[in-house]
Amino acid sequence: MPVILHKGGRLARYCPKCGSARIKWVLPQIWSIYNCMECGYRGSLIIDDKKLAEKIRQKFLKSLKNK
Ligand SMILES: [Zn+2]
Repeated sequence: MPVILHKGGRLARYCPKCGSARIKWVLPQIWSIYNCMECGYRGSLIIDDKKLAEKIRQKFLKSLKNK
C-alpha cells in the first residue's frame, strides 16, 4: 500500500479534518482520494501547509478532550 512519505516537507500531506499526516491513498488506481488513518476522513481535499495542519491538529485534539 502506498504511504505518503515526507521529504523536506514539500511532499507532506495533512488531513484537513484532524491535521494528521497519517493519510494514505484509498486505492492506487484512485490516487486523488485520500484516507486519514486517525479520524477516518476520506476525500480528495488535503492540505500541505504544515502551520495550518498544526492549527487544525490542536483544535481536533481539543475537541476530542471535550467529548
Ligand atoms: Zn484526519
